[in-house]
Parts: sequence; C-alpha cells; structure tokens
Amino acid sequence: MEHQDLMYENKNLFSKVEEQEKNQIFAFCEDYRKFISDAKTEREFCEDTCRLLESNGFVCLEEKETLKPGDKVYTVNRGKGVIAAVIGNRTMEEGINLIGAHIDSPRLDLKPNPLYEDQGIAYFKTHYYGGIKKYQWTTIPLAIHGVAALEDGTQINIMIGEKEDDPVFCVTDLLPHLATQQMTKKMSEAIPGESLNVILGNLSCEDEEIKEGVKLNVLKLLHEKYDIKEEDLISSEIEIVPAYPARDVGIDRSMIGGYGQDDRVCAYTALRAILDVKNPEKTAVCLLVDKEEVGSMGATGMQSRYFENVMAKLCAKTTEAYSDLLLRDCLSHSTCLSADVGAALDPNYPDVSEKRNAAILNGGILLCKYTGSRGKSGASDAGAELIAKIRRIFNNNQVAWQIGELGKVDLGGGGTIAQFVANLDMDVIDAGVPLLSMHAPFEIAGKFDIYMTYKGYREFYLNN
Ligand code: MN
Ligand code: MN
Repeated sequence: MEHQDLMYENKNLFSKVEEQEKNQIFAFCEDYRKFISDAKTEREFCEDTCRLLESNGFVCLEEKETLKPGDKVYTVNRGKGVIAAVIGNRTMEEGINLIGAHIDSPRLDLKPNPLYEDQGIAYFKTHYYGGIKKYQWTTIPLAIHGVAALEDGTQINIMIGEKEDDPVFCVTDLLPHLATQQMTKKMSEAIPGESLNVILGNLSCEDEEIKEGVKLNVLKLLHEKYDIKEEDLISSEIEIVPAYPARDVGIDRSMIGGYGQDDRVCAYTALRAILDVKNPEKTAVCLLVDKEEVGSMGATGMQSRYFENVMAKLCAKTTEAYSDLLLRDCLSHSTCLSADVGAALDPNYPDVSEKRNAAILNGGILLCKYTGSRGKSGASDAGAELIAKIRRIFNNNQVAWQIGELGKVDLGGGGTIAQFVANLDMDVIDAGVPLLSMHAPFEIAGKFDIYMTYKGYREFYLNN
C-alpha cells in the first residue's frame, strides 16, 4: 500500500479536477447562482422548486390514487415546504433514501404591525429571524419579499428591490464621528434588535393637515401597487433580505457569494439530484423544510408530523394493505442525509477551528458525524456503520468528501434537522457544503463543494 493511501487528510481538491468535469462544475454552479438569486424566501424557493419538478415530469401527489415504481410525485406544505419522491422498485416497508434540507434563512421579518413614522421618515419595524450578527444587516441594500393574505382569501405577492430600476431599502448605522460610545460596546450589543428599522420613505403626502403624512404616503403607494391597506400588513409575511443577486467570487471564479446559501445550496443540490433519479431500487425522497433556523418548530418545521403524514400517504398509495406498522417499518428502515451546510475553516479566524477536523473550502462534500455543543449535547451522533456505508458509496463513485466538525470543542455549536429525523427511528448523518461567513448577508461557498454535494446526493439515491 502506498504511503498516501494509508493517510487521510482534508484538502482542497478543485485543482485536481480534469477540464471536462471543471466545465460541468461551472455550468452547474451557474444554474445554481441564478436559482438562488431569484428564490430568496422559503415561499419563493418552494414555488420555483415546484416549477422545476413539474417540468421534469413530477405530478401532484394528491392527483394520484395509487403509485407504482418509477412514478414521480411532489406535495407542498403550506407554500413553505416541498416533498418530492420517485417511487422505487422495492416496497416502502424496506425503507426510503431521504435527503432533507431547509429553505428558510436568517433575515429580518416585519413585525405584525410594522409601519410607523419618526421625524418625517417612515420605517418598517422588524424582528430578526434566526441567528444573525445584527451589525451585518446595517448599511446594505435590502429588498422586501413576501405575501399579504387578504380577508377574502386572495394572496398578494409583494416584491420590491430586485429589479434594476426598483428602489431598495436600508437599516442605517451611526457615523463613526458620533459612534465613540457605540464602538466601546460589545459586538452583540452595539446594534440593538429594536434599532433594526428599515427605512421606507421621506416624502409626505400633500395634505398638510395629516399628522403622519410620510407614513400615509407610503400606504398610498402600497395601495396603488398592491391594493392593500395597513391592516392587511397584519396578515402578511414579509421578509427583508439582501437586495443583490449571488455573484461569482474570486478572480478564478472558484466560489459563489450570495444570500441564503444556508441552506439553499443543499436544497438546490438535493433537488437537482432527485431530478436525475429514474426507476430507483429504494424510493428516493427529497424533503425541503422551513423553520430550521428557529428550531424546526411549527407546522412547516421538521418537528411537525407533516413528514410522517406524507410518508403514510406514500405507503398507502403503494400498497393495498396499509397499516401503521408498514409506516413504522418504512421509517425505521430508511436512511437520511441531513443536507445542511457546515463551517469551512476561515484562515482569517483559524483560532476557532481545530485544523485536523475542520472542513477545507473546495475539499468536497462535508460529512459531519455530530453537531451540538459542549460535550456533543443536543447532537444526533451518526453511527460508525452509517459513515462507513456513505464513505463506500462516495469512494466508489468518485465523490470527493471530507469530514469535519463545527469548530473547536466548547467554542460554540449548533444543530440541524438531523436530530428530529433521528427521532423517527432513522439513521441520519449531516452532509453538505462548507461555507465561509455562514449566516451573513453574503455567504461564500466553493464551486467544487457545491458540485460534489450534488454528485454525493445523486450517488446516495442511486446506490444506497
Ligand atoms: Mn442550515
Ligand atoms: Mn443556519
């Protein structure tokens, strides 16, 4: 055995790729870049996903009375989540191959009653969603994305700030000249949550008698454009996200920078992987969930019974004798890749990572045996047997992979949907793209990693 075959090491493998595969990587990543530039919220990602699934022959699960091997179906959870499946030759009882990613990302949500005027400037009040570093959300161009649900049942899509001639929005910050006090504060306290107010307008409507003329003018413009009034904002879900598209990063274009790559990079690669699956042995399922960034709560999060309910439907539609035991067996015989991003080693901040167990940018799809924090607390610790199986699939199919954990022991931590999938009595391991600047308004991913994640997911569907 050669010496290098005896040793294992995480390393940048992008330069080892041959010309033809390099072209495939760049083409794939260009599709990805465009997709995430358009789909910035869970609802938008959901819509674009359905469009892509339909154009690839997937049909609505609800339209099918029964399912047979080779059938391709999808179903939508309240406009914020999708489950797509390709029915396998083997029975559901024998388990499925599941890849689960989340399509919500950290952002600023509007408060239920958001609009106000102060000193002649109109603002939206926000409540941040997920783990953000608040200072990163000031002084960058922001866009408004969302829906307003009206009393009569209609839904109005709202989007301002994405077209080239659209106005954008912003959260202001202090000028350095007057920030002497602010600059001495801890980073976590320098920008208070209640100051994340989004600047909306400065023109008053003409009626001098009106007290809050700027606010009223904003309402008039919103009414003109969307036919909504202030009370309609209460039954809306409006998210404030960075206004710019994703871009190639680096003079060699080896990376992609953009908003919400956690976890749309794994969602997109999982989606593309299931599009490649035809007549699989085991049923292939791609699960895109919401609310991961706030603990997977709610009816659209991974802790909801929704996933089990859809699996019950798949079981019922593929057999003549549905039973609860059939569903239980299906879940316990299944394997899941929890498709989520991890932290890449940042050479600017090497102190937070332990180099031998940190992901390298463009070192391949990242396997994470466990997440959690402080003595693996809260982790779904993947079994050695599962890691061996995934390693075999990846090695046999030229999928570049690496192993890593989320930073040094006791420095922090985090979680993914893996723990909730594990609660269903399913084997699960985290596998996804390592990121730089995770949760920032502009996150960076390596193109080789993006492609290898897609390839890894595809080979898992085809070979497990
Ligand atoms: Mn994530
Ligand atoms: Mn996250």
